[in-house]
Amino acid sequence: RVLLNTVLDQSRENVKGIAITVQDITREVELNEAKSQFISNVSHELRTPLFNIKSFIETLHEYGEDLSNDEKREFLETANRETDRLTRLVNDVLDLSRLESNKRYHFEAIDLTQPIEQTLRTHQLNARDKAIELVQDVELHLPTVLGNYDLLLQVLNNLLGNALKFTQAGGRIAIRAYAMGCEPEHPHLATCVRVEVSDTGIGIDAEDQACIFDRFFRVENRVHTLEGTGLGLSIVRNIIEKHHSRVHLVSEVGVGTTFWFDLPVFQKDTPLLDGALNNG
Ligand code: ADP
Repeated sequence: RVLLNTVLDQSRENVKGIAITVQDITREVELNEAKSQFISNVSHELRTPLFNIKSFIETLHEYGEDLSNDEKREFLETANRETDRLTRLVNDVLDLSRLESNKRYHFEAIDLTQPIEQTLRTHQLNARDKAIELVQDVELHLPTVLGNYDLLLQVLNNLLGNALKFTQAGGRIAIRAYAMGCEPEHPHLATCVRVEVSDTGIGIDAEDQACIFDRFFRVENRVHTLEGTGLGLSIVRNIIEKHHSRVHLVSEVGVGTTFWFDLPVFQKDTPLLDGALNNG
């Protein structure tokens, strides 16, 4: 963006010259474009379930008397599923926009064993129904990490939920956590805790891996029709970035997928406690 301003003399009557200001607004334009794209995607995603719900209600209203009880029940069940889908979508959009606002989150020392156990409990029944084995492999005396409990719980839930969606019956899903040397993302720390969520599911091919964290991206496959919102992994990425780290994945089609990330070990005496990471 180029701004032209006339420069007046002291009497403010005569033009002394012209000042040219050049501002790089590429980033601003990009952000605005991304925002418009997001709003248009959200509207599109909201429209489909809304349209379906409205059609079901209209049909029941107009032709209800001609329908059998079984048909009516089927219509209502489908409308109910569509409503659940709308709710998931709205919740995910709200979570994402909260994460992208400048809201500050409370960070504290967290024993990851707890959110890991909680996540496994939440998905236990679903896994049993699908005949999938859930495995917890957490190192004994795992050091505490610096993080936000609710956000980390959401990460684990999203990753485990996906693993369950994309793994066939008889498969195996594991959550591992162990201490190790830090990746370059945390050069000031000696140790991190690495968390891995791995499955023996359908896998993700190399091309799709590049887009997997984009909002609303879903690999074209027949495994899921109604369930996903395409926002789960964007939320995961955002939360892990809030923890000043990054999510990685290793995947092979037909073999399985592992998502992993490192979190800094909580250290009482490091400046981290009072520093940027400890946002209240
Ligand atoms: P969704 O709500 O569709 O699961 P996500 O953002 O969580 O959205 O995931 C985006 C897409 O990435 C999914 O639709 C799926 O195609 C792919 N994906 C995510 N996790 C896995 C996994 N564990 N195995 C195979 N594909 C996965």
